[in-house]
Amino acid sequence: VRRAKKSGHTEFYHTRAFDLAREQFAIETELRRAIENGCMTLNFQPICDLGTGRITSFEALARWSNDDGVLISPNAFIPVAEESGLIVPLGRWAMEEAARTLAEWDARAGGDCGVKLAVNLSAIQLQRDQIGAMVKNALDRHAMPGSRFTLELTESAIVSDPDRIAQTMSALKDLGTTLAMDDFGTGYSNLAYLQKLPIDVLKIDRSFVTGMLADRDKVAIIRAILSLAYALGMQTTAEGIETPELAQTLGALGCTYGQGYHYSRPVPGDAAFALIEAFKA
Ligand code: C2E
Ligand code: MG
Ligand code: MG
Ligand code: MG
Repeated sequence: VRRAKKSGHTEFYHTRAFDLAREQFAIETELRRAIENGCMTLNFQPICDLGTGRITSFEALARWSNDDGVLISPNAFIPVAEESGLIVPLGRWAMEEAARTLAEWDARAGGDCGVKLAVNLSAIQLQRDQIGAMVKNALDRHAMPGSRFTLELTESAIVSDPDRIAQTMSALKDLGTTLAMDDFGTGYSNLAYLQKLPIDVLKIDRSFVTGMLADRDKVAIIRAILSLAYALGMQTTAEGIETPELAQTLGALGCTYGQGYHYSRPVPGDAAFALIEAFKA
């Protein structure tokens, strides 16, 4: 709200910034309630071995269906959650729900169901929450070993506080988790961190994969990422595989895993469990 002094009295009028702030606040209020009232869900998208086509893990992706039943994209609510600090309770909920779901799948399978789960951690969450303790508590509550989980971080987490992130990452490694660098290649960051941090997997950003079959520059970048990962002893996952040709090409280039609509869109937990059973048969 801007104040305008006009002949002795003060008028208030809305600015575009105010409208945006008000809308942001409305989303924030609704999101806070959604987290508190259990209105968030996780969907799961398979990550497959590009050599064998087998499902090795699933990425857990948050979904919010608002009061009107409209599904809101994480690309809309994650930034709001990050700016408002709601990413801390949201991230705690996602880790807890992921651990609960994998324990449930194991129970239904009568033992280790054979897949791992990947959970996204925001840079803001890493700055503001005690991530090591948070993850350990979620694992303990469901008697799950850390080795069944991958934690996906983005380069923004490293840029913001390299020393602290190194400690946090080694605490997460001590729990037995796998660490993946998400959206790799889009973060404009200094590559020196790759030799200092305990990263196991580079996830090649979808923007390089989409259209790569008709774009030699994209192929060149993907080859460079693959050889960098190979030289550093890391595995690779390509995001955004939408066609069998992309799966075939990326496998031939030496990429380890693939994820994308070619295999499956993100699906609710029961449908994900059905995919595991179907692939076993
Ligand atoms: P991400 O971690 O890079 O997740 C992959 C995104 O790519 C997902 O979008 C997925 O649905 C989409 N995707 C997968 N395969 C394909 C494909 O073949 N083609 C296309 N066009 N898209 C594909 P989604 O679920 O909308 O999530 C967007 C982003 O929101 C995620 O990107 C992640 O950064 C963030 N996010 C989602 N859930 C969480 C969460 O629980 N915590 C945090 N911190 N971030 C989350
Ligand atoms: Mg991710
Ligand atoms: Mg990603
Ligand atoms: Mg991405």
